[in-house]
Amino acid sequence: MTLNNVWIITDDQNAVAELCNGGRQLGEQVSVVLFGDQAQAEEAIAFGADQVFLYGKTSEMIEGYAKSIADMLRAEGAKLVMVYSSVSGKLMAGKIATLLGTSAISNVSDFAVEDGNVIVKHMVFGGAAIRTEKALSETVVVTVGSGAFEKAAKDDARQGKVTEVAAEASVAGIKVLEHRPKQGEVVNLGSAKRVVGVGRGFAAQEDLKMAEELAGLMGAEMACSRPIAEGEKWMSKERYIGVSGVVLKPEVYLSMGISGQIQHMVGVNQAKTLVAINKDKNAPVFKQADIGLVGDIYTVLPQIIEKMKAL
Ligand SMILES: Cc1cc2nc3c(=O)[nH]c(=O)nc-3n(C[C@H](O)[C@H](O)[C@H](O)COP(=O)(O)OP(=O)(O)OC[C@H]3O[C@@H](n4cnc5c(N)ncnc54)[C@H](O)[C@@H]3O)c2cc1C
Repeated sequence: MTLNNVWIITDDQNAVAELCNGGRQLGEQVSVVLFGDQAQAEEAIAFGADQVFLYGKTSEMIEGYAKSIADMLRAEGAKLVMVYSSVSGKLMAGKIATLLGTSAISNVSDFAVEDGNVIVKHMVFGGAAIRTEKALSETVVVTVGSGAFEKAAKDDARQGKVTEVAAEASVAGIKVLEHRPKQGEVVNLGSAKRVVGVGRGFAAQEDLKMAEELAGLMGAEMACSRPIAEGEKWMSKERYIGVSGVVLKPEVYLSMGISGQIQHMVGVNQAKTLVAINKDKNAPVFKQADIGLVGDIYTVLPQIIEKMKAL
């Protein structure tokens, strides 16, 4: 059973392929509200949107358009609104929900439609539990991060309608004074098919070179546990996986020297194949791993690299 219509709101073009795929699974008609340009609107149509409402690129805070968007959702009888859970997206979802007289449900990872009602699952207690909720409001507003849906395949032959919306942004009580590009690397782990994750089993930053070499041979992206990014600062925060980091759905996740605490594993337990290397046979990561190797990374990693080079 599907809904009449699903709406997607995003300020990140990288989220469009996944959200459109989700929208197509859940609703008959998919509408996308984008803060971008005409080419990005056309890309959204190729990924599954039937119509795109284009707010254009803006230096304003996108939540400033919440009233305009909420009015449109009300007028169009929106059933489900999936807002990409960027920082601004979360604020946007809260504002829209308030304007529509309902509440926003955050970080939804799973959806079902039963008798026209939307049933969602999302993590609670820092990832220690999953809560199932039935949304009772006429319009259901949720935030969705990366990894909830697979990416849609692109079909450049798809047809859809693009409507440019002229609206004034207004955020009560806040004025944007300056925009500065973020320093540091731009990482898009969400699109990586293979990911190598490193944890505190590595004793020194220099030792990560071994993991990087293996990742290179596998054609994988590098990621890490939170202490490696936030504690040691050996890798950027964009690369840590988990409940407070990024949530991924790669084909292969290879974890090395990671204990496998729930807060980390919720970010990768949807990987198709989960491989773990840890010297402690009782490490929690082995409970979820498809393939587990009990061993010291300093012994086994050079051997794996050597074997792979010989292939
Ligand atoms: C509210 C909250 C949110 C959190 N969010 C996140 C999050 O989003 N992401 C996240 O990652 N963490 C998060 N954490 C932290 C999380 O609970 C763990 O502390 C963290 O994931 C542990 O990182 P680790 O596995 O690298 O380190 P450790 O737990 O110290 O594990 C290191 C592992 O390496 C193994 N090891 C050591 N030496 C070797 C060796 N030579 N060879 C092989 N194995 C070896 C050990 O046996 C051990 O299992 C959060 C915690 C809280 C409270």
